[in-house]
Amino acid sequence: MTDTYARTTTSTWRNWAGTVTARPARTESPASVDELADVLRRAGAEGLRVKPVGAGHSFTAAAATDGVLIRPDLLTGIRDIDRTAMTVTVEAGTPLKRLNTALAREGLSLTNMGDIMEQTIAGATSTGTHGTGRDSASIAAQIRALELVTADGTVLRCSAVENPEVFAAARIGIGALGVITAVTLAVEPIFLLTAREEPMSFDRVTADFDALVAENEHFEFYWFPHTGNCNTKRNNRSAGPAAPPGRVSSWIDDELLSNGVFQVACSLGRAVPATIPSIARLSSRALSARTYTDIPYKVFTSPRRVRFVEMEYAVPREQAVTVLRELKAMVERSPLKISFPVEVRTAPADDMALSTASGRDSAYIAVHLYKGTPHRSYFTAVERIMTAHAGRPHWGKVHTRDAAYLAEVYPRFGEFTALRDRLDPDRLFGNDYLRRVLGD
Ligand SMILES: Cc1cc2nc3c(=O)[nH]c(=O)nc-3n(C[C@H](O)[C@H](O)[C@H](O)COP(=O)(O)OP(=O)(O)OC[C@H]3O[C@@H](n4cnc5c(N)ncnc54)[C@H](O)[C@@H]3O)c2cc1C
Repeated sequence: MTDTYARTTTSTWRNWAGTVTARPARTESPASVDELADVLRRAGAEGLRVKPVGAGHSFTAAAATDGVLIRPDLLTGIRDIDRTAMTVTVEAGTPLKRLNTALAREGLSLTNMGDIMEQTIAGATSTGTHGTGRDSASIAAQIRALELVTADGTVLRCSAVENPEVFAAARIGIGALGVITAVTLAVEPIFLLTAREEPMSFDRVTADFDALVAENEHFEFYWFPHTGNCNTKRNNRSAGPAAPPGRVSSWIDDELLSNGVFQVACSLGRAVPATIPSIARLSSRALSARTYTDIPYKVFTSPRRVRFVEMEYAVPREQAVTVLRELKAMVERSPLKISFPVEVRTAPADDMALSTASGRDSAYIAVHLYKGTPHRSYFTAVERIMTAHAGRPHWGKVHTRDAAYLAEVYPRFGEFTALRDRLDPDRLFGNDYLRRVLGD
């Protein structure tokens, strides 16, 4: 062992939502690829399993371990920007926030991203983190090459031309194939997006869903359960000029309404569930239409301070409206009281074995509940609807699916598990979650 290893033998690890805890035998923070390979060899020799963790923003136990927990803190930063290939290579533990701001300083940007930027690049891509897009897909789909340390300590590079079978699987690998140490992503010259946020009725959004998706580069909406109200967001590239939301209106919408008031409303709803439908009607009307133009990460992402638990399924895009109507009908005929809006996004088909959009145009439907609210009956009822439509659960969000189900809905599931058998035959990177979703 070298001195650079940060080591805490007794610490308990918790995810962001506070729903998963683990007591690893020890925690290590290797500072280089060589140190990481050494950590893996020693853990293997001791019979301990290994799990790299990102920012702990998964709601599932994907990153939990009773063996050696590898923290990404010392594997961060930009390795290289290639302006000919238009790529950036970053250390795997780099937080998306740091990546986005560093790229913006260089006049560059990713093409698409999710709602927040607290995750690490390896953690986000390993579970298929996505935003919404008509033509542009998840963050993993923007990866051009990966560096992976496998169970025997080998440093494996993969891309479309180098170890392509590993590249097809490891971009969304749920930490099952090895520890990613660097990620090369496609970038483009920074651009402006105009965001148009507009309230719309559920009936109109669902009737016009195909047109709204087709006419906008990035369309998403939130439906407020117990109401017929939605808030839509359309992001499209703009020639400018930049027109960011004013400081006051931004504070009112993003901090006061979306975080401060929402937190109070959720607490009240959890204490007195009968108030939830009235709160939902009020809050769905509180957000008014607004338009602003800014650089991509400022438009795509926003702070999420209210803690919640989430389930999200990808369904074939052509079934999205049917699924949403079934979901609304289920909430209306049940005694459930749901304080959090339902989020709907889309992605084009991609070519990664375990991507929720693998081989099919997809719509993502995400349900949330305020932290501490019992979620089982709501999530079970939602999951019943999603699985009836061959839904694929987000690898980082609550679900109860197992390998037998997932093999049915992922045509390339066997390709992934065969590669796992080859790269990690002794399951050095195994944990209870992977045993459930991938099988032994
Ligand atoms: C507030 C909030 C907002 C969110 N918004 C979105 C969203 O808009 N879109 C979306 O799709 N998801 C979203 N998520 C889910 C989140 O993006 C994913 O769960 C993501 O995987 C979390 O990244 P992380 O860095 O925290 O990784 P962790 O949760 O710590 O780990 C995730 C997985 O990656 C593996 N991993 C981590 N590092 C490595 C590595 N170096 N090599 C190999 N495997 C590794 C872990 O072992 C684990 O299996 C959100 C979650 C929260 C809490």
